Amino acid sequence: MAKRVIKKRESQPVRQVQDGPFTLTVEVLRDRRLTKSVRWTVSQHTIQVRAPERLPAAELDRMVEDIIARVLKSRASARRRNDDDLEARARRINRECFNGELKWHTIRWVDNMQRRLGSCTSGGATDGDIRISDRIKSWPDYVVDYIVAHELAHRKHPNHSPAFWEYLDRYPYTERARGFIDGVSFAQGDDPDDLL
Ligand SMILES: [Zn+2]
Repeated sequence: MAKRVIKKRESQPVRQVQDGPFTLTVEVLRDRRLTKSVRWTVSQHTIQVRAPERLPAAELDRMVEDIIARVLKSRASARRRNDDDLEARARRINRECFNGELKWHTIRWVDNMQRRLGSCTSGGATDGDIRISDRIKSWPDYVVDYIVAHELAHRKHPNHSPAFWEYLDRYPYTERARGFIDGVSFAQGDDPDDLL
């Protein structure tokens, strides 16, 4: 007779957690192949947790709670930082720093920027398309805001002229954010002014 390698934990029914508009199913399985560590995966709307047979139930429950909290947190932060969020950020920064005087066509996250953090086209068919590298999605808010402010400011001053920097100084955390980006560019051997 074939040995069952994975069995559902009878004591704990499949559970569901609410994540905004989504319902996530949490499956907890005992897996005889695991000796010490708990493994988990998220696919679509299911969090599957696999645990060693001998892990005490109370400990497993604690770990499952932990895993659910981590999944919900990372899903929430990824959701916040989507293209709609970027557009809303751009509008807020335009209003708060630039008297709402800047106009752009689109602003969106892209996954194909290797070195650059952001770009803004001026003129031509793609005039006013702002692209932000999704590498910065996990960076602090004041840095993300700075990068958006920087690209927005290029709508008025396309180059890094003294007038551009003076204009961008209206974003209050410019110095601090430039310090952060200096560190990143130093680490990758780039000139910070070439990155955005
Ligand atoms: Zn620039």
